[in-house]
Amino acid sequence: MQKGNIGVTTENIFPVIKKFLYSDHEIFLRELVSNAVDATQKLKTLAERGDFKGEQGDLTVRVSLDADKGTLTISDRGVGMTADEIDRYINQIAFSGVTDFLDKYKDNANAIIGHFGLGFYSAFMVSKKVEIITRSYQEGAQAVKWSCDGSPAYEIEEVQKEDRGTDIVLYIDDDCKEFLEKTRIQQLLNKYCKFLPIPIAFGKKTEWKDGKQVDTEEDNIINDVEPLWTKTPSTLKDEDYKAFYRTLYPMQDEPCSGFTST
Ligand code: ADP
Ligand code: MG
Repeated sequence: MQKGNIGVTTENIFPVIKKFLYSDHEIFLRELVSNAVDATQKLKTLAERGDFKGEQGDLTVRVSLDADKGTLTISDRGVGMTADEIDRYINQIAFSGVTDFLDKYKDNANAIIGHFGLGFYSAFMVSKKVEIITRSYQEGAQAVKWSCDGSPAYEIEEVQKEDRGTDIVLYIDDDCKEFLEKTRIQQLLNKYCKFLPIPIAFGKKTEWKDGKQVDTEEDNIINDVEPLWTKTPSTLKDEDYKAFYRTLYPMQDEPCSGFTST
């Protein structure tokens, strides 16, 4: 096992992240899911260029809750990372003049996150510990686990992982228990992930059986990977517009007829 310190110039970036970004802390899920989608898109690009010749398989990004462990996990089967890449992309976040900047933008979480590419670190807004378990797409790559409890010290060790790709495991903070609730996560996925281009699954679809709601075999896919605006208008029917309206406003009545194409 190797130990080290994350390369930040302030003594500890995490309290800063928590303090300044507190009001907007639900965005962590958007950031982590979009990283998973990015990693999957990268794999597809490598495959198109002939730089990845293996089986792509199921590329669904999976979000799952474990109430007993108190974890929320985001898993992808994208490019993954080697230990060296974790070091470059996760450990060595270089902040020049970070305190000045945070001071200036303290009311705008999105500006900070966008500017510094702090996407991944937004996980620490809601977690007491974060693990990255990852295996690169490169042949014979060794899987690794990175873990960090919110201090600048991290640990990295070799692990077994069958699948290519990355699991981000969040050990949810005691004061953020809402993010261990199924309905809250479903709501956030609907809010931020509805139109991402890779299927995002959150658990299984449920059905009523013998007066109880039970899981089916079918993934609960929360997004539409081919939204209406990517299609040619002449191929769309009134029903398509109505279905789109229902996706956006599931609790509303049917739209009035002027909403659809004429
Ligand atoms: P950004 O996405 O803007 O680059 P992030 O902080 O969100 O910044 O992520 C930092 C980097 O960590 C990414 O650029 C990528 O190289 C790596 N990374 C994060 N999540 C994943 C993932 N799920 N799979 C592979 N690489 C990842
Ligand atoms: Mg990102």
